[in-house]
Amino acid sequence: MTQWADLDALRPAVAADVQVVTSDGKSIAAHSFVLGTASPVLERMIERARRGWNAECTIRVLGVSSDAVFAFLQLLYASRVTPEDEEVVTSHGPQLLALSHAYRIGWLKRAAEASVTARLTPEHAVDMLKLARLCDAPRLYLRCARLAAKDFSAVERSEGWRFARRHDAALELEILQLLEDADQRRERWARERASREAYRQLGEAMDSLEHIFSDDGCSCADADADADADTDAPPCRGLRLLMRHYATCGARKAAPGGGCTRCKRMVQLFRLHASVCDRAAPHDDGDRPCRVPLCSHFKGKMRAEKADKTWRLLVKKVTRARAMSRLAAGREREVVPEVVAASWARYSSSGGAARLR
Ligand SMILES: [Zn+2]
Ligand SMILES: [Zn+2]
Ligand SMILES: [Zn+2]
Repeated sequence: MTQWADLDALRPAVAADVQVVTSDGKSIAAHSFVLGTASPVLERMIERARRGWNAECTIRVLGVSSDAVFAFLQLLYASRVTPEDEEVVTSHGPQLLALSHAYRIGWLKRAAEASVTARLTPEHAVDMLKLARLCDAPRLYLRCARLAAKDFSAVERSEGWRFARRHDAALELEILQLLEDADQRRERWARERASREAYRQLGEAMDSLEHIFSDDGCSCADADADADADTDAPPCRGLRLLMRHYATCGARKAAPGGGCTRCKRMVQLFRLHASVCDRAAPHDDGDRPCRVPLCSHFKGKMRAEKADKTWRLLVKKVTRARAMSRLAAGREREVVPEVVAASWARYSSSGGAARLR
């Protein structure tokens, strides 16, 4: 771009009929029909200027450097951003965003917003956030907010942030609020991920129970002797260990219903099984009955008294997690004791009947 050539040269057939005056007093000759076509705001300004004593027709485009105004006008003459103009948009991005917003030139605003967004750095995030809000540029605003959340220490060192802290309490508050929201969002995602994982693991524990008590029974190689072989251990191994404990636990026998945590886990797993089991009870005719311990006992109890809401929700989520696991190809199987421990840790905090330890 040739700087400070009059725009007259771009439309030599028609004489320039507007003078655009900038903040630093420079004047650029331009064509009213080009400016008026590009921007409804400029069109009105030109009309008003013509009505007055102003024979020369002068309009003022203020608030940015004259270089930026020239770049702005030249882009209006091109009426699009050509690849050669990319550099101009890059070097005057924020000013072009402000001008195109003020003069309502949508295509240029989109180009300027995209350019500023693509080149955003932490040093300018606060200033650009402010600009984005003033110019109603949502994509840039979002990018600033994300950058501030991601790299706040760098943002904190920026001049823009220091200025906001000294002079712009509203902006400071807005940024702190954005950071807070981002933190909460992250925490919520982590919680949701953890609870999805817990349901999935409970679903796997249910699969293992059905497998161990299937008609064919469990014939998995017993990897118990080698405690380090967790990765090769069959998925049912942890549950078998837990059941072995349940069968021989002295604490439970000494105080039935008493304090053994592992035994309580086992019982709750049996109860959960009964809630998701669709096989017939032993006394029913037809299908062979389910062989999982306590299945008919808990089914009978469930018929007698309705499970509470928390438990029903747990059952629903585990059922859904199992269905999803079955759909997911090549799922990773995990060793059950960790599985169970993680799941209980989760439910033990949710209270009510879902308290599993
Ligand atoms: Zn097995
Ligand atoms: Zn026990
Ligand atoms: Zn059953």
